[in-house]
Amino acid sequence: MSQSVAVDPGWYEQAACQNQGWQKFFDEPDPTAAQRLCAGCPVRIPCLRFAMSQGIDNGIWGGLTPEQRRRTRASTTWAA
Ligand code: SF4
Repeated sequence: MSQSVAVDPGWYEQAACQNQGWQKFFDEPDPTAAQRLCAGCPVRIPCLRFAMSQGIDNGIWGGLTPEQRRRTRASTTWAA
């Protein structure tokens, strides 16, 4: 999650990544650790929907890499 993106606190309050630091979601070349955390996150779908609707093109959101989101965006309409 980007530190510069305003995140809806309605779902972020339940995020598994709270207090986990941003590095594994943005700076790690291997996204495995972040994706493992996302896999068990109770707000994975709202997180992914938010990133898709905002066109966020960096970091791991909802367990997907930017490239995975680009491919998904090409075939799906996402609402905020
Ligand atoms: S899905 Fe991943 S990035 Fe999104 S809130 Fe949950 S742990 Fe954080």
